[in-house]
Amino acid sequence: MMHDPNCLFCKIIAGQIPSKKVYEDEHIFAFHDIAPWAPVHFLMVPKLHIASMAQLAPEHAALMGHLMTLAPRLALEQGCSPYPDGGYRIVTNTGSEAGQVVHHLHVHVMGGPRPWLKG
Ligand code: 5GP
Ligand code: ZN
Repeated sequence: MMHDPNCLFCKIIAGQIPSKKVYEDEHIFAFHDIAPWAPVHFLMVPKLHIASMAQLAPEHAALMGHLMTLAPRLALEQGCSPYPDGGYRIVTNTGSEAGQVVHHLHVHVMGGPRPWLKG
């Protein structure tokens, strides 16, 4: 399914639930996390509804490559300091035991000066 009408992040992508947008293109949407753990904390999602990393298939390789190569650029644009003295965490929780709460694949990008609230 391309979009899940019951999915929170599908609704955010569609603009049905407001968010603070960081970036958008044909395939990717990025927005600030509503409960940030770090001075910079945004989420990157494919517009395609994929529940988690566990559902990835070879046909998603270009999409995920695009997402992951975009993350460092957006991290710097959002105020993370450059590697190696600065940097950022790129985290993807997959499944409930890993802390995944929203079942639409998303990558957390966190950074900025410490201390952080969490992470
Ligand atoms: P997970 O625990 O699934 O990896 O992460 C879900 C993230 O989505 C959490 O960090 C949470 O703060 C964020 N989140 C949950 N609901 C909303 C919302 O309505 N808007 C935004 N911007 N972030 C949300
Ligand atoms: Zn979704």
